[in-house]
Amino acid sequence: MLRSRLFWKLFGSFCLVILVTAAVVEIFVSRGIEAHALAGIENSLSTRTLLLADLARDDLAAAAGDPDAPPPAALQERVERLGAASGTRFTIIDAGGRVLADSEESPAGMDNHGMRPEVMAAAAAGTGSAVRYSLTLRTRMMYLARSVRSGDRRLGTVRAALPLAAVDDQLGRFRSAVTFGALLAAAFALLVGAAAAGRIIRPLNALAEQARGLARGEKRGRVIAPGRDEVAELARSFASMADELNDRLARLTDERNKLEAILAGMVEGVVAVNREERVLHMNGVAGRLLGADPEASIGRPIWEVARMPDVGEAVTRCIEENVAVSRESHQTGPDGERIIELYGSPLAGDGGPAGAVLVLHEVTELRRLESVRRDFVANVSHELKTPLTAIRGLVETMEDDQAMDADTRRRFLAKIGGQAERLAAQVADLLALSQLEAGDRPVERERLDLGEVVRGAFGALATAADRAGLVYEAEMPGSPLAVLGERLALERAVGNLLDNAIKYTPRGGRISLRLERAGREAVVEVADTGIGIEPRHHKRIFERFYRVDKARSRALGGTGLGLAIVKHVVLSHGGRVELDSQPGRGSRFRLYLPLAT
Ligand code: ADP
Repeated sequence: MLRSRLFWKLFGSFCLVILVTAAVVEIFVSRGIEAHALAGIENSLSTRTLLLADLARDDLAAAAGDPDAPPPAALQERVERLGAASGTRFTIIDAGGRVLADSEESPAGMDNHGMRPEVMAAAAAGTGSAVRYSLTLRTRMMYLARSVRSGDRRLGTVRAALPLAAVDDQLGRFRSAVTFGALLAAAFALLVGAAAAGRIIRPLNALAEQARGLARGEKRGRVIAPGRDEVAELARSFASMADELNDRLARLTDERNKLEAILAGMVEGVVAVNREERVLHMNGVAGRLLGADPEASIGRPIWEVARMPDVGEAVTRCIEENVAVSRESHQTGPDGERIIELYGSPLAGDGGPAGAVLVLHEVTELRRLESVRRDFVANVSHELKTPLTAIRGLVETMEDDQAMDADTRRRFLAKIGGQAERLAAQVADLLALSQLEAGDRPVERERLDLGEVVRGAFGALATAADRAGLVYEAEMPGSPLAVLGERLALERAVGNLLDNAIKYTPRGGRISLRLERAGREAVVEVADTGIGIEPRHHKRIFERFYRVDKARSRALGGTGLGLAIVKHVVLSHGGRVELDSQPGRGSRFRLYLPLAT
């Protein structure tokens, strides 16, 4: 309590009030007391001077007759006696101011008293009084002088004086009583102040503690201050403010969590930076794209965190020029080139941007698909143009040469037929592929025996293999291998593999087809002893129109779409393709298809 400023302020105010009250009481009351006491003394002095005047009249008259006569000794003696008996100082003064007798001193040694204020006042008005310090008696005295007259003639003045020690004494007692009272009141004020301050300070301290807790984000019980005073009102207001704050905090936390969940769930990378380009937020995708740890990046400059210089530049431009920025950033990483689209927009703030938000979007796959599509259109046009040009050339020649003999004409027509067939094959393959890709055709999945499908494809190409002078063999399992799939598509895939094997294996080679079970999968293996494929082509030969040797493929009637179809069929059945091939040693394609349960 003693350390409380409020307490000392209260106590100080109380003391001030007590002091002022005591001073006012003292001044007014002591004046009253003094005035009353002086009036009483003056009254008694007046009576005494009346008696004294009577007593001294004759001597004064005598002295007036003979101003130079020595003061009468008898008068002095009587005055001394009377003075001693009544405790009063008496003085007899003649009209000229000479002291004729005095109860306290010998008149011979006394100066002229004509100019004493009370004497002068008495000469003018009959009586006069004065209070002053008497050097003779060393105390405060009240003097009262009375003029003594005989008819119109002034005979002299009689004066009585009483010491004021009794009055001073009474005043002194009164003052000490007031001082004591004030001290008592101050002690009482100390107690009352402490109690009042305590009543205010306790809830205030509790409120202050609660405010500190709130600032630290703790939830605490309410502060209860009983009553209806301002402190209670403050406690109630504070409690509702704390509730409101807690509510808002909960809402904010909730919204932040939602925002974080949204940002975390986004496909795009999002990074927010402040005006100094330090990271405020980074979601997981952004961390992955920038090669940075989102948690560890908070507070660090973006150009230090991101491994892409484009990012730093985009952010700087965004903030410095207060404009939205978009650019494509090409990065060469360990797994090839990555293309990332950057969109930066400044965050509005007072007097310029408060920072920037950067959205990162990986478009590598999109760009690859775009280029694949472009290539595809170019390839299709080119592929279709070749047989068409050939056909047109042949037709023109026939038209120009009307005299063409029947034999040559037949040969030309056979060639035109061959090109038309090639065109038809290509269009058929393209259609098959687009159907497979589009996925809009309802897939008629049925439970079928893969052995049957494989045998069908094998049988269909037996003649071609025979014509190509190849050893053509198949190894099939004893029991059926059930898969869920499309019969025609699967047969086409296996057929394409066998067709390729026949096309790319020189006469005398061997083609072996094998179907077996490997765990929960069925494996279709087509191996040949043909020309083989260089490893650098392995990945790409499954792309449409990709051919290791264009001329050779074309000469063999290839469309460049066979393996693309194989891959699609297998993937759409939930399987995968494997290739094992070395140039000059032959190739082995394996199709893995999940078995039906
Ligand atoms: P194509 O119609 O040209 O055969 P594919 O898509 O079936 O087209 O095959 C793509 C390319 O892969 C072929 O042009 C060929 O170069 C190569 N290829 C496919 N199968 C074999 C194989 N068994 N032996 C050697 N090369 C092959």
